[in-house]
Amino acid sequence: MIPFAVKRLIFYAYKKGVMKMLGCIFCQVAAGQKPATIFHEDDRCVVFQDINPKAPVHLLVIPRKHISSLNEENVDENLLGHLLAVAAKMAREKGIDGSGFRTVINTNAEAGQTVFHLHLHVLGGRILRWPPG
Ligand code: 5GP
Ligand code: ZN
Repeated sequence: MIPFAVKRLIFYAYKKGVMKMLGCIFCQVAAGQKPATIFHEDDRCVVFQDINPKAPVHLLVIPRKHISSLNEENVDENLLGHLLAVAAKMAREKGIDGSGFRTVINTNAEAGQTVFHLHLHVLGGRILRWPPG
């Protein structure tokens, strides 16, 4: 028999998304538990190289906080603004601000979201066709 206190703890952990975080690869990257080529870190976000780049420059900007997608309720608007500002700063650092770059957030299956920790793609260094596939 699982004691009531333990059950409550597990329920609380589920509610807080702790269980999801435990298995989340981007939470592991943010915590330094999973290797990644990191280009920027601050108190709110981490920027690293995409493992399977779709362009000469392909970075991922993630919040440190586990947010599963843009569909999540009450996503912090200041945080979203910060992610975009950091994306633009990284584009400047990578020298693709002048030539052009694309910022993409895929949300859910039909948009191609495969990792359910909010992330912003920064793509550039080649001509990017429009509309995307
Ligand atoms: P999504 O398809 O969810 O919009 O984007 C997920 C991105 O994460 C993909 O571009 C994929 O290549 C990248 N990715 C998946 N697993 C890892 C990983 O373990 N490390 C890094 N650096 N990128 C990953
Ligand atoms: Zn996560």
